[in-house]
Amino acid sequence: MSHFPHRRDFAREPHPVDLTARPDLAAALDAVNRDLAATLPEAGPMRLMCTPSDDEDLPDQFHAALPDDRRHGSVQDPDAARVAEAAQETVHAVLWQVWPVCPEHRTGVHADAGANERAVWWCRAGEGHELCEVGELAQTLPGRQRRALRRKERRREG
Ligand SMILES: [Zn+2]
Repeated sequence: MSHFPHRRDFAREPHPVDLTARPDLAAALDAVNRDLAATLPEAGPMRLMCTPSDDEDLPDQFHAALPDDRRHGSVQDPDAARVAEAAQETVHAVLWQVWPVCPEHRTGVHADAGANERAVWWCRAGEGHELCEVGELAQTLPGRQRRALRRKERRREG
């Protein structure tokens, strides 16, 4: 357990989001962590943190934290796309990595809201195209990398 100084307002400390109360965010975080495991394993699994607002007119702030608790930036009113965006922000600012990258255009892609409350990775190159749904990044890897990942997963399960 960490030690807090006296007389600090505990309620305003960043704390892990209770994901049992927010299955939508649990699923969103799972999807992002699947993508990290596939393409940037050193950055995951991330946790979702919340800093409650101390002003009722201002929304709570949500952050995606690395396993060592480092995080950067925040999003409000999180949904699947914003959870992905928060993870991306932490990867960019803390690890100095462009993530994820469109394998075709070799440029960074962006979390965006797709149809039916899905979150997608959107590549802005050319006319723009959907790379994949968040959580499905492994599908975009070249065959050899994808097979290596499946072998690794099998080892972990076995
Ligand atoms: Zn692209």
